[in-house]
Amino acid sequence: MDKASEYVCADAREAIPRWLCEEASSEEVHALQQHLRECPDCHASFLASSASQFFGTQDAKRQAAHHAARISVDDVGVARIA
Ligand SMILES: [Zn+2]
Repeated sequence: MDKASEYVCADAREAIPRWLCEEASSEEVHALQQHLRECPDCHASFLASSASQFFGTQDAKRQAAHHAARISVDDVGVARIA
């Protein structure tokens, strides 16, 4: 029965994506947060997962901005040629 309360890295790695998707229960989140405080490996993995999710949304915005910038650069080029 002691084994059931033992929270291992595999549990954390499984819980991280569920937490990021807000699918984890409050008990799961609590256990995960406690594990992250004690385990640098899983903490790094959590940071990488949350960062990639964050930058995933940032990339979409950056791509839109880049696309808009390309259009204005092309306009300048066309204006210069004409
Ligand atoms: Zn761990």
